[in-house]
Amino acid sequence: MTNPLTDAHAVFARYEELRWRLPYWRGKAEEPLVVRDLSEVMDRYDAFVLDGFGVLNVGEAAIPGARERVAEMRAAGKIVIVLTNAASLASAGSVAKYQRLGFDFTADEIVSSRDVAMAAMAKLPAGTRWGTTPGGSMEGIDALPLETDPAPYLDADAILYLSGAEWDEARQAMLVGALQANPRPVVVANPDLVAPREGGLSIEPGAWAHALMDVAPDLDVHFFGKPFDNAFQAVRARLGNKTPPLHRIAMVGDTLHTDILGGAAAGWGTILIADHGIFRGLDVAPFIAASGIVPDVIAATT
Ligand SMILES: [Mg+2]
Repeated sequence: MTNPLTDAHAVFARYEELRWRLPYWRGKAEEPLVVRDLSEVMDRYDAFVLDGFGVLNVGEAAIPGARERVAEMRAAGKIVIVLTNAASLASAGSVAKYQRLGFDFTADEIVSSRDVAMAAMAKLPAGTRWGTTPGGSMEGIDALPLETDPAPYLDADAILYLSGAEWDEARQAMLVGALQANPRPVVVANPDLVAPREGGLSIEPGAWAHALMDVAPDLDVHFFGKPFDNAFQAVRARLGNKTPPLHRIAMVGDTLHTDILGGAAAGWGTILIADHGIFRGLDVAPFIAASGIVPDVIAATT
């Protein structure tokens, strides 16, 4: 990747560079309401749709106060849903992960980009062989792990960017060559460029998929997850007839170009959590001004 995504400035610049591939900004441009935490905006919304990384957890640690805030939402009768761009864990694994962190979410309350991708993939012909980036697994598909052997890169009927954990420049180069020789559809099960971890930012499948599109712009690449509407549709489908009026749903996230952009495009309210994600330690105002992606609310913490 030409732009090493090592800090918030680099990640922000890359998101702006590929902005034309993301949904159009449909939010307002009013001054955001600035609060300390979500307890101050509890009355404004009937449903809180919470991002994972940067809102509930950083890597394998829960964000202080997040568990208590979720309990407070439940006590106030709010709908609580987790909407996370994460692809490595199956639903049962996500429930277990949040339980380990001390949260009480049920499988019904967690929507991941992985689920959204799987639902779309299930509509494709049975027997499709998916060349899959290693580091996660997906049940019910015929997966060919893309590792050092070149054969699966050539044999796959379609490509699935599932995890970035074991992906690198050498494997990306093999994939680019294989797709340039024989174009096949590509599914991206996590559109994020990076995720905040305890030790810094990890490179996520979206970063690799956008790098692929830069050099092979004619490929058929399908992103599932925020900021794309399929993720927000999946939440509305999950809530069914309990879906509140759209402006009474809050998308709570730490990333302007996924959570806030997508939430606004869906017609929802938007809340940026500033202190734990990629903007940790920085003033978010210059990033908001430069992108024009203006959350309704900025909260320091969950
Ligand atoms: Mg996040």
